[in-house]
Amino acid sequence: MRALFYAGPNQVEWRDVPAPRLQGDGEALVRPLAVTRCDLDYSIVTGAAGWPGPFALGHEMVGIVTAVGDGVTAFRPGDRVIVPFQISCGSCGACARGLTGICESVPFRSSYGMAPLSGFDHGGALSDLVRVPFADHMLLACPEEVSSVAGAGIADNVADAFRSIAPYLAQRPGARVLIVGGLAQGIGLYIAEAARALGSAEVVYLDDSFARLDIARRMGVRVEARATFEGKAPDAPYPITIDASGRPEGLALAIRSTEHGGVCHRTYGDLKPTTEVPLRDMYGIGLTLHLSRLHARTEMPAVTEHVRCGHLHPEAVITRTAAFAEAAEAMLDPTVKVVFVNEDA
Ligand SMILES: [Zn+2]
Ligand SMILES: [Zn+2]
Repeated sequence: MRALFYAGPNQVEWRDVPAPRLQGDGEALVRPLAVTRCDLDYSIVTGAAGWPGPFALGHEMVGIVTAVGDGVTAFRPGDRVIVPFQISCGSCGACARGLTGICESVPFRSSYGMAPLSGFDHGGALSDLVRVPFADHMLLACPEEVSSVAGAGIADNVADAFRSIAPYLAQRPGARVLIVGGLAQGIGLYIAEAARALGSAEVVYLDDSFARLDIARRMGVRVEARATFEGKAPDAPYPITIDASGRPEGLALAIRSTEHGGVCHRTYGDLKPTTEVPLRDMYGIGLTLHLSRLHARTEMPAVTEHVRCGHLHPEAVITRTAAFAEAAEAMLDPTVKVVFVNEDA
């Protein structure tokens, strides 16, 4: 079958690889229908992430189940499903606590499309077939109302955005929210939409990219164009701030713009091993800085329901639709969010 590979900085290519087969009773095979480019994918393929190739790409997908093992009871061939980007068993100690991103039954950080993270190659979503272990636990039925294009991002970035804002607004209903946009291109915009949908009294989206500001404006949130990230955000302080810029100066701006006792959420770790943060000031004003990887499977059902009932519109962030045949080139397009549609499915 074909699979899209990262071969080196700015080198993305289709390769012919053996198709996966069921390796156990609890597994399923899924044919990807729509795959979205994760924000991290762009950093990978441009070489910014510094990951060694080659490895198969793609980890946000909606697909059709084509085969199941004898032990799979919840899914049948023909079911349309959202496949979380992380591999998890659903029954270990970590999974029992909802921490499906650190499942103890598989190599640490096991994911589709990101072999260097775990050292174990689970294949990528930009291929004709994907093997899903622990299928009854991992797979989530994609509701009829959710298109494959809208649903693919729920496997990672859309769920990541939702959990980056929903808990804070639940604690502070109606609170104003500041988002500093940037490297986490799609996630920052998904957060803006979710903050608005979840009842924030005012959402301010600040960025230096006119393309992203334009999408935020169309979502109906207040936008602030900034060439540099000096000073504070307009009308600071904010009870909830989000740094999606992936840049130290974006994090610093978010922290400076956070209210005493407020919370600042960072969507990325960082591309660099260390980042300076003003701990003394943060301690003094009682600022909570939160960052962690997403536990995708745990977060997916709630956000899927918000998409199903029309509160969230992930497709509003998509700026390019490409066929799988165009994926090698489209993967390197600097545009905000690409969806790849499998023309053979
Ligand atoms: Zn991702
Ligand atoms: Zn587990």
